[in-house]
Amino acid sequence: MQKTLILLKPDAVQKSLIGQILTRFEQKGYKVIGLKMMQMSEELVNEHYDFLMDKPFFPNIKSYMTSSPIVALALEGTEVIKGVRMLCGATNPAEAGPGTIRGDFAKNIDNNIIHSSDSEETAEKELARFFKSEELFDYSCLLYTS
Ligand code: GDP
Repeated sequence: MQKTLILLKPDAVQKSLIGQILTRFEQKGYKVIGLKMMQMSEELVNEHYDFLMDKPFFPNIKSYMTSSPIVALALEGTEVIKGVRMLCGATNPAEAGPGTIRGDFAKNIDNNIIHSSDSEETAEKELARFFKSEELFDYSCLLYTS
C-alpha cells in the first residue's frame, strides 16, 4: 500500500484549518498512520526544499515555513500519492480548481497551505525526514468493515 507525507504549512495552522483538511483526507478513505505538530528549523527547510535553493523565492519559502508550527501527516492508501495531490490542487492557488484544498483555502503561491510528496521515491525520503519509524503506526481501519 502506498504511503505519503503531507505538511500542513504555517498558514493552515494559523487559519485553524487543520481539522477541515484532515477531514478531506479521512473522507476520501485514506488512513492516518502518523501525525504531529512541530516547528521546522531553517536546516530542515533547507533539506526539504534543497531543489529550490537557487530560486529567487527561496528566502520567502524559508521565512514562511519557519513562521509558525506546521503539522506533519503520514497517510496510507491505494494510489494515495496521486490522490492527495489531486485533493490539494495546483501549486499556484490561482490555478487550483474549486473544491481543492489550495483552491478553497490558499491565498497565493507564497502561502499555499499544504505540501504533499510527488512520487513514491520522494515519499519514502520525506516520510523518513519527518517521522521516526516508531512514529508511524500500523492498525486496522474500521471504516469499510461492518
Ligand atoms: P508543490 O509540490 O505543489 O508544493 O510544488 P513545488 O515542489 O514545485 O514547490 C514547492 C513550494 O515552493 C511550493 O509549494 C511553493 O510554496 C513554492 N514555490 C514553487 N514555485 C514557486 C514560484 O514560482 N514562486 C513562489 N513564490 N513560490 C513557489
